[in-house]
Amino acid sequence: MCQAFFNAASFYQKLFQLDQAIANDAQAAGCPHCGDRLLGANYPRKPRGVRSALDESYHYRLSFCCARDGCRRRTTPPSVRFFGRKVYLGVIVILVTALQDGLTEWRRRQSIEQLDLWTQTTARWQRWWREHVPTTRCWQALRSRFMPPIEICILPGALLGQLTGDDLACGPARSKA
Ligand SMILES: [Zn+2]
Repeated sequence: MCQAFFNAASFYQKLFQLDQAIANDAQAAGCPHCGDRLLGANYPRKPRGVRSALDESYHYRLSFCCARDGCRRRTTPPSVRFFGRKVYLGVIVILVTALQDGLTEWRRRQSIEQLDLWTQTTARWQRWWREHVPTTRCWQALRSRFMPPIEICILPGALLGQLTGDDLACGPARSKA
């Protein structure tokens, strides 16, 4: 099931393209503090778990530094690849946690082994989703948009279950143009 997905290099390339588009917009907007130019100043990263599927674009998180002397402040755009300082990619943190509830013990062990995870790590992610995420301003702002309301005790699976779109199996059928 998800093993093939976790190893699909093209998927990670698409995520990088999204990060690049987000970063391009941030750079075009300039420094949020003084409006000056932003210069590339990426953060080095070493994501764990799916290294064989990742190219060198995953060796860093896109980030910028203001070009103006006296400001030089950093701007790090949001990323669809990295979750803050977590050493695993966001997609793994989301899917592994969501899958925990539905996997057989054998499957669970297999995915944990393949992704080089600790059982304590997945338990910590589950707590993060269910105890920390619901307290964030982002969640407070977005939660009322979901109908039926999302059950926090089954995050992030409950959130994934409400996503729809042309590229999702549960989304509207794509017309053959
Ligand atoms: Zn600046």
